[in-house]
Amino acid sequence: MKPPAFEYVEPRTVEETVETLAEAGEGASLLAGGQSLLPLLNRRRVRPAVVVDINRVRDMSAVEIRADRVRIGAMGRLRELERHEALRGALPVLPATVRLVAHPQIRSRSTVGGSLSHADPAAELPALAVALGARMVLRSAEGERTVSADDFFRSDATDATDATDATDVAGATNTPGAPAPRTARRPGEVLTAVEFPRRDGFRFCFVEIPRHGQGGFPLVGVCLGLDLARTNGARATTVTAARLAGAGVADRPVRLARAEEALRGRPLDALVAGLTGGEPDDALDGVLDAAASEAAPPSDLHGSAAFRTALLRTAVRRALARLAAEARTEPETAEAARADVEGRGGA
Ligand SMILES: Cc1cc2nc3c(=O)[nH]c(=O)nc-3n(C[C@H](O)[C@H](O)[C@H](O)COP(=O)(O)OP(=O)(O)OC[C@H]3O[C@@H](n4cnc5c(N)ncnc54)[C@H](O)[C@@H]3O)c2cc1C
Repeated sequence: MKPPAFEYVEPRTVEETVETLAEAGEGASLLAGGQSLLPLLNRRRVRPAVVVDINRVRDMSAVEIRADRVRIGAMGRLRELERHEALRGALPVLPATVRLVAHPQIRSRSTVGGSLSHADPAAELPALAVALGARMVLRSAEGERTVSADDFFRSDATDATDATDATDVAGATNTPGAPAPRTARRPGEVLTAVEFPRRDGFRFCFVEIPRHGQGGFPLVGVCLGLDLARTNGARATTVTAARLAGAGVADRPVRLARAEEALRGRPLDALVAGLTGGEPDDALDGVLDAAASEAAPPSDLHGSAAFRTALLRTAVRRALARLAAEARTEPETAEAARADVEGRGGA
């Protein structure tokens, strides 16, 4: 298929972009990496009067690492983010999650802004944004506003098959009969950046269950962050706070707040003991039940809602096991590092 005819505009600045959007109104589509928009255009699922290509807009791909947050320009390419050395230190879950998206070839074009704006309910970055409590920075001719990830993502109005089919992806909203908006972005606005709080003290991981091997949208994914307290330097850790979001478990990325609550105050090793051959802890079932109670996954040819709910439980279990394993090795590493330094005559 070939795309319908459209006017093509290539602004060089954010100001030019928002002026163009203001003039074009709802008839404009922004083009970033094109990995979702181009299939939509080619299949004529969207018919914008104007395509506004923002690939040459200056200053929209910077990575700024601040004490309390990381700000990433919307045109940051996923492949660059996964290789960003400073980012690995400041917010390791971000490059680690980006690596789970699609294939390297697709990541070399895809942008963080495109992924968040496209907002596929099964996509990794929207769930990461919800788990971390990211803020979206939106610009229009009227000015700038920020929207929390919780408020940014909206229910998906497309059917479930379309929502997770990378070759028939939906997202543009300006065509009669086109899918309804999946985000709170208004016509005339461009997402210029996303700000992720660093949440020092938390350790995050993203666990997903792929549909068919690595490289496509997951069936289900979870982003879990735990803030752990150690009692008197002991190895046992207690969850003091948790953040959990799911991908592919509802019609938008969702925060699983009841499961977060069920995790609070629990000793982590006891929770995961049953997963490593030890005595199972009833509290784990409580956490998994709480997560499942907030999920409303789709049923489609890739899996029923019940299957996806079971996968959600599996993903949460794996995420807990991974963070527990990391927490267990941490003190050993610190002690080993100290011993090594002392052995070499260091302080
Ligand atoms: C084979 C294949 C496999 C994939 N697998 C995955 C996967 O596993 N996980 C995953 O998350 N994604 C996956 N994707 C989707 C891919 O990551 C897309 O690139 C991404 O969803 C959109 O990013 P983009 O930069 O290409 O945006 P585009 O395709 O250019 O735009 C997508 C939508 O967002 C809008 N938009 C883009 N930038 C902005 C902005 N700055 N402000 C406002 N609106 C904007 C566009 O107008 C359009 O509606 C896959 C894609 C393919 C083709």
